[in-house]
Amino acid sequence: MGTTILFGGTFDPVHLGHLETARAAVTTRGADHCRFIPARVSPHKRNVQSTAAEDRLAMLRLAIAADPRLVVEEVELRLPPPSYTIDTLETLRRQYPGERWIWLLGADQLTKFAQWHRIEELLGLVEFALLARPGVDLEEGLTTVEASLGGTLGKTTADRLRGSVVAAPLVDISATEIRRHCAAGESIADYVPPAVAEYIATHNLYR
Ligand code: ATP
Repeated sequence: MGTTILFGGTFDPVHLGHLETARAAVTTRGADHCRFIPARVSPHKRNVQSTAAEDRLAMLRLAIAADPRLVVEEVELRLPPPSYTIDTLETLRRQYPGERWIWLLGADQLTKFAQWHRIEELLGLVEFALLARPGVDLEEGLTTVEASLGGTLGKTTADRLRGSVVAAPLVDISATEIRRHCAAGESIADYVPPAVAEYIATHNLYR
């Protein structure tokens, strides 16, 4: 039995913000691995057209290849969409009984966190660890969580999240910005590992 960090997202594309924060979470939480879980269709991005799952997966594999602590978990690509975290977690719990799970959550996710599918059950099943993001007001997000969940649950959840912030450098990178740079023909060398930049160029993504 060990500790595994879970990191769900669209990863369109995976970038150094994801990789650096995941590594920091593994180290600071004494975890064995971080499993990156690409969503087939994110419940938060149902109206957004994502890049094909096979490309997002290929980029993830390239990005993590050199670090044995980072793993790709394909479970959400096999489950029917949309990818609800609780379904993912229940599947993983059956697959790896006894494992301790920590779900990584970017601060930008806090505004809608209280509306996540079966949130109360989810809070009982998994620990969360929060990632600060440049330009995102953490306290404002936590206040929203507290107010939306309400009562004791709101207060304890906000307190738990506040105490779970991962000691990681702030990385000012988003996939949206990377897609914009690509569309403008600009270099993305500072934002993704070289193999991912090469994949994007070879496959003409985000043009
Ligand atoms: P987009 O710009 O397309 O919304 P993104 O860069 O936010 O994408 P996602 O794949 O949506 O990337 O993110 C997966 C998870 O990683 C989310 O919880 C998100 O908050 C978190 N995350 C993404 N980028 C960073 C970053 N630079 N620092 C900390 N957390 C991040």
